[in-house]
Amino acid sequence: MSKRGEFVSVRWVLAGILVGLVGGLVLNKTVGVESPQYAVVALGADLFIRLLRMIIVPLIMASLISAAASLDTRYLGRLGSLAFTYYLSTTVLAAALGLVIVNLFDPGIGATLAKSELPKEIAQGQPPTFADLLRNLIPANPIDALARGDMLQIISFSLIVGIALNLMGDSSATVRRFVDEVLEMAMVVVRWVLRLLPVGVALLLMRTLGQAGTDALLPLAKYMGVVLGGLAFHGLVVLPALVWLLGGMPPWRFFAGIAQAMLTALTTSSSAATLPVTMRVVENELEVPPYISRFSIPIGATVNMDGTALYEAVAALFIAQAYGIELTFAQQIVVLFTATLAAIGAAGIPSAGLFTMVIVLQAVNLPIEGIGLILAVDRILDMFRTMVNVEGDAGGAVILKNILGRK
Ligand code: ASP
Repeated sequence: MSKRGEFVSVRWVLAGILVGLVGGLVLNKTVGVESPQYAVVALGADLFIRLLRMIIVPLIMASLISAAASLDTRYLGRLGSLAFTYYLSTTVLAAALGLVIVNLFDPGIGATLAKSELPKEIAQGQPPTFADLLRNLIPANPIDALARGDMLQIISFSLIVGIALNLMGDSSATVRRFVDEVLEMAMVVVRWVLRLLPVGVALLLMRTLGQAGTDALLPLAKYMGVVLGGLAFHGLVVLPALVWLLGGMPPWRFFAGIAQAMLTALTTSSSAATLPVTMRVVENELEVPPYISRFSIPIGATVNMDGTALYEAVAALFIAQAYGIELTFAQQIVVLFTATLAAIGAAGIPSAGLFTMVIVLQAVNLPIEGIGLILAVDRILDMFRTMVNVEGDAGGAVILKNILGRK
């Protein structure tokens, strides 16, 4: 069976987006979120996203175990260190870009803004320490980690299992074959879900816009413009240039290949929920060999978040400006690194970046309540930063393929 072109065409997905856009605004302006119509849309959107999420844990586990079990361990080390270098450097680059443009446009100076009430978890939350982050990498109980869907813990557990199977050599053939078949099964399910993509994106967008509406947008227009401008620059210039230079793939081919994944990211606002789609487009459309994609896509979806880093840097400085607090150069460097850390630590789920922003604000003594200033438009911005997050993962896979070559 031909592997390429098995998706529903991008045109259908775009049509779904259009329907979602119009439908969402109409819902918001007419019947509102209390209506039975909105309830039906929200239910449909939930069903779709649950279908995607349902398959993530088996997909991540099987894909990482299979990659770690089948690769030469020295090669795995090279792949790991290259991927890590790419993730870290592009994330720092994105946060730096955010800082540059927020300093250029000063969107928060003189802004008069209403403050929304903070969700309880943010208002009372203590940000995790670095030691907590490290400790949480290793699950004390892997079944518990699987049940909670804790991606970082699932990744480290799967890598350890994969390497152990690898070192066992031929005596682990049965388990390895089992894992490969689980992976194949997960991919078959993903293929079914993908057929529903146009309907899924329409419902998701209707649900988000039906609730958010456009009223909150105006006072925050300049802030949104800076975040979106920064994301556009990173997503349309920086990342494609890197993919071209280091990955040898021209931008038009790259974007044509990843369109489905980017649109799924836009509408789900979740790198994790988009993961199955990213995996398929990277393997089938961008022709990245599975031994790279199986390793880099699950890890990238969890830790590599350029869009989130950029957004956190802009948001922190915007809050400082709105409060009339001037951050020194040294403090801005602290923002650069904590925004990177906060992006790595954010889960691939909607609004995760908003929660980890506490780390950035506390590092430079900014008031946590400042998050209330930007809450109203976070859901919309989340859509776009997630799109850049997913683009970065796909770009990384292409670059790894080019540098490491085919096995
Ligand atoms: N929603 C983003 C993601 O899944 C994370 C964030 O909130 O920035 O990639």
